[in-house]
Amino acid sequence: MAIKTIITEPNKILRQKSLPVNNVGKQEQQLMDDMLDTMYAANGIGLAAIQIGVPKRIIVMDISKKDEKNSPKYFVNPIIKNKNIETSTYEEGCLSVPNFFAEVDRPKKCDVEYLDYDGKKKTLNAEGLLATCIQHEMDHLEGILFIDYLSKLKKTMIVKKLSKKKDRPDRIIV
Ligand code: ZN
Repeated sequence: MAIKTIITEPNKILRQKSLPVNNVGKQEQQLMDDMLDTMYAANGIGLAAIQIGVPKRIIVMDISKKDEKNSPKYFVNPIIKNKNIETSTYEEGCLSVPNFFAEVDRPKKCDVEYLDYDGKKKTLNAEGLLATCIQHEMDHLEGILFIDYLSKLKKTMIVKKLSKKKDRPDRIIV
């Protein structure tokens, strides 16, 4: 188990399409463990492998509340089957777009087919926060970020601010 560095926007890696996993073996499970550690350490509720630079179709999530027991979920090769026409709106943030939040409309319910931590085929009927979170994470597998749903002006402003932060040199006190 290890905490990895989360890649932040702007970075071309985040725009890469992730590839399906052939087999859920030790290596993939190790990756999922690391992803979960990284996500918990960053106080996130979802993380896609590409956010730590691995272009594989793997997502980890835990939407349990702070006072509840951890309830990690693992999705390998997830596919959305049915999307509700009804939408719900959440104010979304992203570990790869630090400190920015925006309202995004997404289908309220969706069914997801995936392989779990042990490589078993599963289906999940997701609704509400779970549905939104899965769709946000699945966008990462296609190289899409939530800021892509915003107006061009707003998106440009966010990316500019994030770039500035990156350009800033390390602060030293001597
Ligand atoms: Zn994200």
